[in-house]
Amino acid sequence: MSCIERTKFLLWSRPVFRTCEIIANHAARIFENGRSLANARAELDELNQKRMRYQRVLNRIGASHSHVCMECKGKCCGGARERDAFTDRVLQHPDTPHRLGRRKTGNMAAYDVAPERVTSTVAHVEGECVPGFCPELTTRGCRIPYELRPIQCTAYFCNATINELSPKECRTGSKALIGLMKVQIAAALLALKSRGRKS
Ligand code: SF4
Ligand code: SF4
Repeated sequence: MSCIERTKFLLWSRPVFRTCEIIANHAARIFENGRSLANARAELDELNQKRMRYQRVLNRIGASHSHVCMECKGKCCGGARERDAFTDRVLQHPDTPHRLGRRKTGNMAAYDVAPERVTSTVAHVEGECVPGFCPELTTRGCRIPYELRPIQCTAYFCNATINELSPKECRTGSKALIGLMKVQIAAALLALKSRGRKS
């Protein structure tokens, strides 16, 4: 039973989520007309609240495998490639100047929407950066508060972490992943709807 739940969770977390993320993210970027999504703030805010709720759920179930990540030291945060997608940025910061599929310059939206949380004096913020990894990874963990991280960061679970989850956690996590995918698809549809909106 636990094997089935874990396999289902793995499929949602990796191939299904990844495919949805790529398609919905690029669709939203292509559907937007200029910066038309900036004129759909109320709807974006509603979607962003949902995104944060689902990411908090994934954070809670992830607590059972934090020791695995501590030992691994953030392998999945490897490479300097920026992780935040267009959808992440417009949901958190509709006026973001970074409107490419993947941000190439500047900071994640968390620095604009909650600078006090990213630059506070807690240990993981003050830790040293890890060369060759995401610029937000420090020797004490990720600097970005969990609900403000890119969606793909919170949706990814490697085999070692999935093995630590109970069947109930897998079911709860699967629902949160499906919720996040719905948020991404809704953002793409909203981009289409926003095309004719004037600021
Ligand atoms: S999710 Fe897996 S790869 Fe990523 S830090 Fe945790 S143990 Fe390492
Ligand atoms: S934002 Fe945080 S969780 Fe995401 S890749 Fe960077 S260090 Fe890892």
